[in-house]
Amino acid sequence: QAYGLGRGHVCLFMPQMRAQAVTRRQFQMELRHAFVDGQFALFYQPQIDMVDERVTSAEALIRWHHPVRGLLLPGAFLDALEAGSLAGEVGNWVLDTACAQAAKWRRQQPDFGISVNLSAAQFKQGNLPAVVAAALLRHDLPADALELEITENIILNDQSDILEQLRAIRATGVRLSFDDFGTGFASLNLLSTYPISAIKIDKGFTRLGQASPRDQVVVEGLIAIAAGLGLEVIAEGIEDEATLRFLQQRHCHKGQGYYFGRPCSIDEFARLHLSSPPRQANG
Ligand code: C2E
Ligand code: MG
Ligand code: MG
Ligand code: MG
Repeated sequence: QAYGLGRGHVCLFMPQMRAQAVTRRQFQMELRHAFVDGQFALFYQPQIDMVDERVTSAEALIRWHHPVRGLLLPGAFLDALEAGSLAGEVGNWVLDTACAQAAKWRRQQPDFGISVNLSAAQFKQGNLPAVVAAALLRHDLPADALELEITENIILNDQSDILEQLRAIRATGVRLSFDDFGTGFASLNLLSTYPISAIKIDKGFTRLGQASPRDQVVVEGLIAIAAGLGLEVIAEGIEDEATLRFLQQRHCHKGQGYYFGRPCSIDEFARLHLSSPPRQANG
């Protein structure tokens, strides 16, 4: 009851807040319907080896084929999804779908790898190591072909046994990367306390070719720290050649960005980025 509290008290339930709550509930129902109806899809963005500029893996990125609003990016629905009860289920679907796709593409390009973003809800389920192992087994995918991306939001808001689950996952050979590194509040000691294999330098550090010397020094420093710790470095958001050359000269290992290709559908990815199948020897 928010009325009649007397002067000095704030009325907590305004009509528009009730309307917002209704809208939120409706959106949650719409999300659930969309998931059951198969409206979610994965797009894939190429990741390249910085030495030979060959596409060696892809990052799976969720999209929503909305019947009215068209193709929606995660920015339009991911927060709502993560706030609701569906996040764990959708996360597991993303993992399974991406593993299935990677297994298919590996028939054409045997060393192909896949990166999948994780959400906090998947750790809260408590059985992520088993879920990951089951997905690998189901699709006959070797553990080192899978990389799971975590963000500092997952680690810093952790109220579960995330470190334990990450150790169990890493012990199976699955790779773990720290996404969006260098923009948030995560401190450098996370790099030595979490069992990660790679850092992804955030796309906030793009346009390095034209960046200020100070920004360039920060990125050089991040690469050096990662190298010293034996971690792989993946740069996101490479949009121009100057940035690519800058990162190549600093021995960044992998890169992704619009310069190499935008996230795209399965068919487009196979057409644009997958190498042709190994040639059969014939007489
Ligand atoms: P992220 O994991 O850091 O993914 C990279 C984002 O940068 C993608 O946005 C991608 O389209 C965009 N990007 C790639 N190259 C460039 C570039 O050269 N320039 C610029 N400006 N942007 C580039 P997208 O697909 O909108 O995804 C946004 C975020 O949503 C992702 O950021 C990730 O945190 C989250 N996300 C996407 N798919 C999933 C998913 O399946 N599960 C979870 N939990 N999160 C996801
Ligand atoms: Mg990512
Ligand atoms: Mg990122
Ligand atoms: Mg991000």
